[in-house]
Amino acid sequence: MSTRRQPHTSVPPEVLHKWLSALACALHCLYFVLNLCLVQKMGLAAIQFIVIIFSAYCFLTSLKEYYKPWKSYVLMTLLTCNILASVSVMELWAGAIFWSIALPPWYYNLFGFKRGFYCSAVVAVLSAAILFLRTDTSLFMPYRTVFNFVLAYSSVWLICHIYEAQRQKTTLLLHSLALQDALTGVQNRHSLKEDFSALHNKVEKVYMLIIDIDHFKNINDKFGHDIGDSVLIKVAHVITRALENQNVYRLGGEEFVVLLKGLSNTEVYDQAETIRKAIEGEIFHSHTEEIKLTVSIGVNALEPKQAFTDFLRAADMKLYQAKHQGRNQVCI
Ligand code: GH3
Ligand code: MG
Ligand code: MG
Repeated sequence: MSTRRQPHTSVPPEVLHKWLSALACALHCLYFVLNLCLVQKMGLAAIQFIVIIFSAYCFLTSLKEYYKPWKSYVLMTLLTCNILASVSVMELWAGAIFWSIALPPWYYNLFGFKRGFYCSAVVAVLSAAILFLRTDTSLFMPYRTVFNFVLAYSSVWLICHIYEAQRQKTTLLLHSLALQDALTGVQNRHSLKEDFSALHNKVEKVYMLIIDIDHFKNINDKFGHDIGDSVLIKVAHVITRALENQNVYRLGGEEFVVLLKGLSNTEVYDQAETIRKAIEGEIFHSHTEEIKLTVSIGVNALEPKQAFTDFLRAADMKLYQAKHQGRNQVCI
C-alpha cells in the first residue's frame, strides 16, 4: 500500500526539467543563429535546431502536463550529443569543452545517484578522449588541456556525487521521522492518513482493524513506564509477524491499526483472530516476572467516499463494542 510520496529534500525533477528545457531552448536559439550565420557549421546548427524544438515542447508541456521522466532523458541525451559534437567540430580554443563541466549537476539532480554517476563517467571519458585526439602534439607540453579538463571536471563531479549521497541519506531520515513511529518502528498516524488517501479511490474493498491492548494502564502502574514501552514494542512486532503485513500503524498510546485490502469479510475476521491469538499466546517480560496480555479488535469496512475520520470512528465503535462485551475479542 506504500503508494505515498517521499518527502523532497531537493528541487523536484519536474521543476528542474521545466527550467532546464527553458534554458536549453534559449541557449540553443543563440548558438543556432551563431552557427548558421557566423561560422557556418550546418551539422551543429541542425542538432541545435532539434534541441530547440524538443526543449520548447518540453517547456510548454511541463506548464500543464504531469511530468514524464522520459522527456528529461531525451533532453539530456540531446544536450550531451550537442556538446560532444561541438567539442569534436569546433576549434578547441572556442571552449565548447567548458559545457561538459555543466553536465554532472544536471545528471545527478535529474537522474539521481546511480544514473548520475554513470552519465557523468561516460561524458568524462568521451570528452577527455575527444580532447586527447584533437590536442596539437607539436606544442610545448601537449595534453595540458586534457589534464586541466579532467581535474576541473572531476572536482565538479565529486562534489555532485557527495551532495547526492548526502541528500539520499537525508531523504531516508526525513522519511522515517515523518512516517515512522519513534517507539515501535511501525508506521505512524500520519502515514496511515497518507495510505488511506492513496487507497480511497481504489476499487478493492479496504478494511481497518483497530487493535487496543486490554488494561494496558495496569502494566504501566504495576511495572513502570519503561516496561510499558517495551511491551508496546513487542506488541507491534507480534502484530507485524502474525500478518506478515507491512501495513501496521501505531495510532497513538496502546492502539494499533492494520489496513487490509482485497479480502472477504470472513478472511478479515480470520486475520483479526490471528492477531488476537498471537498476542494472547505471547509472553511479555518485566524485569522480574512474565506478563500475559490480551487485545480487543474492532473491524470496519471502508464505505464509498467515507472520510478518514469517519472510517476511524466507525472502527472505534466496533472496538468499543468488543471492550463492552468483555475484551479479548474481535468485533466486525
Ligand atoms: P482498556 O482495556 O479499556 O483499553 O484499558 P486501558 O488501560 O488499556 O486503557 P486506558 O486508555 O485507560 O489507558 C491507556 C494507557 O496507555 C494510559 C497511558 O499511560 C498509556 N500509554 C499511552 N501511551 C503510552 C506510551 O507511549 N508508553 C507507555 N508506557 N504507556 C503509554
Ligand atoms: Mg486505548
Ligand atoms: Mg487499552
